[in-house]
Amino acid sequence: MHIVVCIKQVPDSAQIRVHPVTNTIMRQGVPAIVNPYDLFSLEEALRLKDQHGGRITVITMGPPQAEAALRKCISFGADDAVLVTDRAFAGADTLATSYALSSAIGQIHRTHAVDVVFAGKQTIDGDTAQVGPGVAKRLDLQLLTYVSKIRSLDPTSRMIEVERRAEGGVEVLETKLPCLITMLEGTNEMRFASMDNMFRAARHQVQTWDRIAAGIEDVGKIGLKGSPTVVSKVFAPQPRATRAQIIQADGDAPADLAVTVVARIFTQHPKIAASLGRRAES
Ligand SMILES: Cc1cc2nc3c(=O)[nH]c(=O)nc-3n(C[C@H](O)[C@H](O)[C@H](O)COP(=O)(O)OP(=O)(O)OC[C@H]3O[C@@H](n4cnc5c(N)ncnc54)[C@H](O)[C@@H]3O)c2cc1C
Repeated sequence: MHIVVCIKQVPDSAQIRVHPVTNTIMRQGVPAIVNPYDLFSLEEALRLKDQHGGRITVITMGPPQAEAALRKCISFGADDAVLVTDRAFAGADTLATSYALSSAIGQIHRTHAVDVVFAGKQTIDGDTAQVGPGVAKRLDLQLLTYVSKIRSLDPTSRMIEVERRAEGGVEVLETKLPCLITMLEGTNEMRFASMDNMFRAARHQVQTWDRIAAGIEDVGKIGLKGSPTVVSKVFAPQPRATRAQIIQADGDAPADLAVTVVARIFTQHPKIAASLGRRAES
């Protein structure tokens, strides 16, 4: 079994601040981490490897410093790491990113056939959730998104059965390998890195591929040239004009307090009062 896990290095959004005057994101000193959603996929890949054996290759497209994110994944138990990095990738949107990644995964597949590709549900910076499905489409893989549980995988019949969180319930899906899976958050808990794996991660030779090594000849499909998306405006959302109010109970009975609160809401928002009044009459 050969599993490829797509991971992205992202700024730790918990530590990002917005400049109070310019409203721009202050990235200085913000640590880079593995996109948290990708770790749910990596853990699931590790569990499949525990059950069925095989290898896990982690891959990222990013600047040279993204190598640190790949090493982190090796410390959790991944076997190989590929960093796809080239100036020609700069300015890539999700279309160009999924093209570059699928081409690189295609190259990996040529030397060691790939059975399952994992991606995170989405990233915490770009947040589009488009790259996984984009890779699946380009590589003609069965696509299983929002997976909450892998029920079974049979390497002999090459069938996989998963539970998928859908609107209003859970779908049980069965399909053939090869497939691409995006795991839902909270579906598992990433294991601790073992001391052995931490040493292995420090020594590991991460493969660094430029666009040629990734099998990309047409520069028109990558980077800014291959990115039709245009960001027309970036802005910080307006702070809310109204703030929460604290209403003292002063020993009022709950029913009296509720009447006071509703009366205040209706006074401040007459449209709500009018709308509810109309509904009550009809
Ligand atoms: C016009 C434009 C210009 C941009 N220019 C730049 C730029 O110069 N530099 C820059 O860093 N970003 C740039 N971006 C952002 C870039 O498009 C996204 O970071 C990238 O396409 C991934 O999209 P996402 O973060 O929404 O991923 P999602 O689709 O939300 O990610 C889903 C999953 O796909 C996988 N994945 C996503 N990205 C990668 C990756 N790079 N490597 C491996 N796996 C991945 C992960 O498993 C992830 O969980 C630009 C975006 C636009 C629209």
